[in-house]
Amino acid sequence: MSIRILISNDDGINSEGLYALYEALKDLGEVFVVAPDRDQSASSHALTLHRPLRIEEISKNIYSVDGTPTDCINLAVNGLLKDRKPNLVVSGINKGENLGDDITYSGTVSAAMEGTLLGIPSIAVSLSGKDNFHFETASYYAVILARYVLEKSLPLGTLLNVNVPNLLKEKVKGVKVTRQGKRLYGEPIVENIDPRGRKYYWIGGNELGFLDIENSDITALKQGYVSVTPIKLDLTDYDFLNKLKLDLKNLENA
Ligand code: MN
Repeated sequence: MSIRILISNDDGINSEGLYALYEALKDLGEVFVVAPDRDQSASSHALTLHRPLRIEEISKNIYSVDGTPTDCINLAVNGLLKDRKPNLVVSGINKGENLGDDITYSGTVSAAMEGTLLGIPSIAVSLSGKDNFHFETASYYAVILARYVLEKSLPLGTLLNVNVPNLLKEKVKGVKVTRQGKRLYGEPIVENIDPRGRKYYWIGGNELGFLDIENSDITALKQGYVSVTPIKLDLTDYDFLNKLKLDLKNLENA
């Protein structure tokens, strides 16, 4: 049976990153694109429950949805492709990196999370930078990792978060398997007055910093490597679990 690949993103159906990914993966199997009809960056893992959703067929195997990246994967797997589950979900190529704690806000990573929750091996691919994107570099690595996952699969409940430096392919130093990095907090919110004299606030006005942790996603990317982080959807802190058990037992007996 032929390989089915489902693609989505959070930058929307018109993003060049989505089409670069489509072009790159179309030789690996039958590719379906189901993506939000507009930019849904930082929509995290939101699922639309309070209104109906519409799917528009743009062309053969390419669909837009007036919802979030999570809606797209959910509708694709449980609706459009319900006769046979995709073998792989790839989300991206996002314009901008998804590193460290920021992945909890990311629509790109959340589309891969939804694929993972539905039991499909999933990859999120992001390209660093703000403009002049080298999609060909990210596409090259997306194909390598898609091939790997199609052949070897992934543990249940684990996805790959891939970040590619915005460099010419020849300038990339290689691939590093990394851990999730850590963001620096405390950046100010921008507070200003609107034309009607009311206060408004703007989140994320400043460039955010990260801690330089060895072998973290951010450090690898800064050094010119492609960062590949295995991300688990089980958020349980197993180290703390046993201490908490003891602590709460003692509280009960006190
Ligand atoms: Mn985005």
